[in-house]
Amino acid sequence: MNNIDEHKTDDDQIVESAFQDLLEGYLRSNHRKKIDIIKRAYTFAREAHKGVRRRSGEPYILHPIAVARIVSQEIGLGSTSICAALLHDVVEDTDYTVEDIENLFGPKIASIVEGLTKISGGVVADHISLQTENFRKLLLTMSEDIRVIIIKIADRLHNMRTLDSMAPAKRFKIAGETAYIYAPLAHRLGLYAIKSELEDLSFKFEHPDSYEKINLKIAESEGNRHELYSHFATPIKERLLQKGYEYTMKARVKSVYSIWKKMQAKNIPFEEVYDLYAVRIVFQCPEDRDEDDICWSIYNIITQIYHPHPDRTRNWLSTPKPNGYRALHVTVMGPDGNWVEVQIRSQKMEDIAERGLAAHWKYKTGDKAEDGELNGWIENIKNALDNPSPDAMDMLSSIKMNLYSNEIFVFTPKGDLITLPKNATVLDLAFTLHSDLGYHCIAAKINHKLVPLTQQLHSGDQVEILTSKSQAPKAEWVEHVTTSVAKSRLAAALRKDRRQVIALGEKTFNDFLIEHGKEPTNEIVNRALARLGFKNPDEFFYKLGSGGITLDNSHLKKIFERNNNNKLMQYLTLGLVRPQESSSGQSTDDIKSIDRKQTYILRKVNGVPNYTIATCCHPIPGDDVLGIIEPHTHTVVVHKQECHEAMKIKSTYGSRIVNTMWQADNTEAFPVTIEIRGIDRLGMLNDITQLITHELKINMRSLNISAEQGIFVGKINIFAHDVTIVEQLCTQLRKIKGLQKAVRIKN
Ligand code: MN
Repeated sequence: MNNIDEHKTDDDQIVESAFQDLLEGYLRSNHRKKIDIIKRAYTFAREAHKGVRRRSGEPYILHPIAVARIVSQEIGLGSTSICAALLHDVVEDTDYTVEDIENLFGPKIASIVEGLTKISGGVVADHISLQTENFRKLLLTMSEDIRVIIIKIADRLHNMRTLDSMAPAKRFKIAGETAYIYAPLAHRLGLYAIKSELEDLSFKFEHPDSYEKINLKIAESEGNRHELYSHFATPIKERLLQKGYEYTMKARVKSVYSIWKKMQAKNIPFEEVYDLYAVRIVFQCPEDRDEDDICWSIYNIITQIYHPHPDRTRNWLSTPKPNGYRALHVTVMGPDGNWVEVQIRSQKMEDIAERGLAAHWKYKTGDKAEDGELNGWIENIKNALDNPSPDAMDMLSSIKMNLYSNEIFVFTPKGDLITLPKNATVLDLAFTLHSDLGYHCIAAKINHKLVPLTQQLHSGDQVEILTSKSQAPKAEWVEHVTTSVAKSRLAAALRKDRRQVIALGEKTFNDFLIEHGKEPTNEIVNRALARLGFKNPDEFFYKLGSGGITLDNSHLKKIFERNNNNKLMQYLTLGLVRPQESSSGQSTDDIKSIDRKQTYILRKVNGVPNYTIATCCHPIPGDDVLGIIEPHTHTVVVHKQECHEAMKIKSTYGSRIVNTMWQADNTEAFPVTIEIRGIDRLGMLNDITQLITHELKINMRSLNISAEQGIFVGKINIFAHDVTIVEQLCTQLRKIKGLQKAVRIKN
């Protein structure tokens, strides 16, 4: 028992002193001294992780403290970030929620912790090893606050430093991610020291033998290198001294990882890596001097002694790298016949280069608000990302994120990461994945929630495209696609579709003529167009092919009657006209002769309905309807009996009412809208479309469903001949598990 107590006390001491170290580092910084909130965050995190240990056996809380320490002392962020770092694993690993954090520490810290939790778990973690290039972008687009990424990098750095305490199965994954995702991100954010350390740590783990060998060779070549360097440096030092500059000059050996990379890339042994080291001159800039001027002055000194490589002067002074790096680089021919790179910087440039953000605090004057400063820095990064430097040297790193603001990244159900432009919709994704998916897309599931095909996508969405064989491309889709691939695929489908319909229409017309003993000629086609009111053959044939007109004797009559000098044809035509029909065949004539005491039969005359469907109530056959004679056009407008509009008219203009009845053999299909509602579940959409298109074989125009918090609501647009079919459909729909409501509504 004593033993346990002692152990506990030891732990407490270790934890306490780690926290004190964090606190002291923070107090030494230029930040405002917001100790209170940091202490609270620490106490809260310590309690939340209480009793939990890392694999190494040490108390878990040491990890968040270490991350906070990196964030504070190695990166230079302030209290908000320190608190978020202390709390970064609380939501993921304990029962506390983001709301708890928000209540205790405010919305800013809570949202950073939330961002960190989102990255570690859920959809991202599942797919992290997939396309790393896009993953980096995803991280950035998902994180509204850049501090999320920075703290994540610090988290990763500590995990890499203590990789042995991670589960063995996880180590390779962590090392791989570090090299491919986090090191480049650190580089991008200007955290050079961290970037190099991450690379070296991951390389050390993945290639322990090579790491050891290269390390050994660096040590072995130390003496020789030192000799070469002093040979090279001596004349430069003399001149710098003459000029009175205060400076340090060092040979910086490349990192183990970058030496190895060079050996791999050039397929050379260690001994042939000639630029094993670079010389760095860091000078103190006097208050009254311009640091850029001094850089150039030192440049002149060096190039007067050694011959510069004509293509290897890098001026990062006038055009800093997107991540803020500034320096002047020159490569000169050294006395031993090797090219040597010399990096010239002021102390301030050096600090910024090594530590990125941290340096900005060191050089800030006065007591500016932390967030103002940070926002400025974030703004710089965003600007850099939006306007990447065109310089070829930096192109690689620029390209990585220059699409930051206008691209989104979504996952397929299998975990593929797809890049789409901002504002892309479900349809865009469907067409991007495959033409067929686009053609037959009816909706999608985003993060397992049903959404309509017009839904805009967001970075990090997992999107499952839902299709139906009966679905076909619609002209109105054009308004809901933004990608060029979707646009062109849709246009091609619509064109192809239209051509097919036109061809069908033309064949129908020719067959019709032949059936009635006529020769299909251009002349007859032209006359048909003129008499039936079409501008061009395509329009006519399209209407015909799509079922917009059904040819009958009245058409034949129209095409061939009057103005026709061919007696025989006139005779034939007239013979086909039913005697009871009026010669003009116009529906207005029908109406003018409406006998209001008789029931008006709703039917087609010459293929044109002798009525208009009221747009206020959209009746269909089977509904109790009444006709109202429109006084100006003398058409019969059909309303539902209970329609408010109809009631109004009925009460004022009773004389316009006419009893109506649908013609029994009506084959017309009417648009009907059905509203559905229910509990969302996997396969719901599929069950609905199966029922409509396969079991009941109903022509579905569209299906729009949206789901929120497990409840979906939707509208189904179908073509139906009459009420019976609609009622049957609604009854069947309500039998689907989870579907609670299915009613016909006004269109
Ligand atoms: Mn962590």
